[in-house]
Amino acid sequence: MKLATAVVHAGVRRDPSTGAVAVPIYQSATFQHPALGQSTGYDYSRTRNPTRSALEEAIARLEGGSRGLAFSSGMAAIHCALQLLGPDDHLVLTEDLYGGTYRLVENILQRRCTYVDTSRPEAVRAALRPNTKAVLVESPTNPVMRTADIPVLANLAHEAGALLVVDNTFLTPCLQRPLELGADLVVHSATKYLSGHNDVVAGALVAKDAALGERLAYFQNGIGAILGPQDSYLVIRGLKTLALRMERHQANAREVAGWLASHPLVERVFYPGVGGMLSFTVTDAALVPRVLASVRLCLFAESLGGVETLITYPATQTHADIPAARREELGITDRLLRLSVGIEDVHDIIADLSEALAGAHTLRELRHAPLAHGS
Ligand SMILES: *Cc1c(COP(=O)(O)O)cnc(C)c1O
Repeated sequence: MKLATAVVHAGVRRDPSTGAVAVPIYQSATFQHPALGQSTGYDYSRTRNPTRSALEEAIARLEGGSRGLAFSSGMAAIHCALQLLGPDDHLVLTEDLYGGTYRLVENILQRRCTYVDTSRPEAVRAALRPNTKAVLVESPTNPVMRTADIPVLANLAHEAGALLVVDNTFLTPCLQRPLELGADLVVHSATKYLSGHNDVVAGALVAKDAALGERLAYFQNGIGAILGPQDSYLVIRGLKTLALRMERHQANAREVAGWLASHPLVERVFYPGVGGMLSFTVTDAALVPRVLASVRLCLFAESLGGVETLITYPATQTHADIPAARREELGITDRLLRLSVGIEDVHDIIADLSEALAGAHTLRELRHAPLAHGS
């Protein structure tokens, strides 16, 4: 079955007793035992719930893994994966990492971490230590869109006895399948493209190997940050259109990236050529609040991966937990804006950005009249 078919059939035919096409929402905390010592496979919903199982099997299939697990958020999924590390284990991470992941490992779990540019395999190799247990990679990175060579990093990690974990939130299995490229574990914020409608917060893990999946399931049940049946249903519902949505997100993002690149108030565009996310720097930080105030179709909001185009200011939103000096080094400057390009008609998206930039420029000219000589 091709991926575009598999997504449509996620959760289908789960209820032989009624033949329901859509997956039922099993809103039950507990399940009756047939007899002493017997189980239907479902005993208590923290451990297993049929709606969540449908999602977990679907996402495992899409990522080509042996076990999927669904969590109450992407952070809960990452937290669970990090339980694979003991207190003395070392972790290598992408330096321009999602701010929440940075906060978790640095401020909450206080793990031994080295942050490197994972687009440079030699930097990853140099960071590996005898006690390195995992390499956690985002590709493309957020927000400056650096990409990693997953097969090369998988070899490096494995030679060092470490696991390669890939946060695949930005590309989804439609555009990148890390487990097939050698990674051991995939992490998702299913809040983003997998569900796709900005209406649910959810996370997922997919393990390539059954034993690793079993260990993570043990942690998931023990910690308890599971996804509820209603939200599991919403993610399955979103998955059905994932392939279609990703095609449109990507086509729109390519067009918006090309348009921005030729705009006189845009200094630089960060678009990796794949997916629906892009960032750009404007020529003057004073333009930022005006652009954010002027957009009408694009919504000024955190998050990404939904059908609506969102515009984000990483310096104060997604990456606020990263110290300012470090942010500058990583290119997350006060002139950087990030777009999660939605599935609207691309002409409307471009018209909105065009008006917002023109409006911001006019305001700037009014205020700095003597300085305004184009850009
Ligand atoms: C949003 C996000 C997360 C965190 O997921 P939540 O669902 O918000 O907890 C992790 N990684 C990446 C790349 C993200 O974009």
